[in-house]
Amino acid sequence: MELRTPARPVLTYGTYPFLAALTGAVAWATLTRRVPLTTDAAVGLLALTTVAVAFAVERANPLLDRWRMTKDSLVGRDLPFIGLSFVTEQIAALGVALAAVRLVPDGGFGPVAALPVVAQAAVVLLALDLLWYGYHRAAHTLPRLWRAHGVHHSPSQVYVLMHLVFHPIDLLASRFLMALVVFRLSGATPGAAFLAVLVLNLQQTISHVNSDIRTGPLNYLLVGAETHRWHHGAGERVNYGSVVAVWDLVFRTFVHTPRRVPDALGLDDPASFPDPRGFRAALAWPFRRAVGQQVAQ
Ligand SMILES: [Zn+2]
Ligand SMILES: [Zn+2]
Repeated sequence: MELRTPARPVLTYGTYPFLAALTGAVAWATLTRRVPLTTDAAVGLLALTTVAVAFAVERANPLLDRWRMTKDSLVGRDLPFIGLSFVTEQIAALGVALAAVRLVPDGGFGPVAALPVVAQAAVVLLALDLLWYGYHRAAHTLPRLWRAHGVHHSPSQVYVLMHLVFHPIDLLASRFLMALVVFRLSGATPGAAFLAVLVLNLQQTISHVNSDIRTGPLNYLLVGAETHRWHHGAGERVNYGSVVAVWDLVFRTFVHTPRRVPDALGLDDPASFPDPRGFRAALAWPFRRAVGQQVAQ
């Protein structure tokens, strides 16, 4: 489907620079102690602000009405997954902290910690997204993993709160295993890990906004709404990255079409997957005995 000239160019071209500038300013003020914020508080504050701004923008300037969040989609489908995401993330964070205490010294170590903090954050994000890329492609290929990851793809819409609609297996893979390996075992300092988390949160939130947000050539560097929407396109097998575009470029799965969006979002064959409105059935689906050949996407 072709996109027309933006109806609200200030929102189309201004939303991302505004959020990126806000993220940069809070990161700088926190790391240089110009504001009395802990890094955890800054992460939480920015996450809430980013969601609130993205939410307001998609209400004011929706890309397509049929991809909007509705009361029915939020209450009837998403809320239990969003609640479970918060719980899973807390458990994962605690697990990472406990495991890291046993395995590595606190405060950074080794060659990565010797780099400037921004370079460390870049190394962390590149490594994290390489692991995610491998897991994510496997999750779209191996039927058992697809049964978990498909929860994120089964809605035929994409909007901002969907960045929290995941099966806990997906979240534990990224928030626990990958975070432990990359954030703590890499030797990156806490300041670098803080910066990397801010970038990760910003990109993952903005990627799901149902609004005509455009970032031009930046799409070749960071994953955003224009490219991640194609990952949710029915029948598409592209753009597996979650923060950086480089691994999709390297492995030739990158697609960026500045003036086009997918005709339809969601599953190739919705009948092949449980209705995510059945929360418990969708949660149990990866653990159920496979009957016949499952259709992976
Ligand atoms: Zn996916
Ligand atoms: Zn997504």
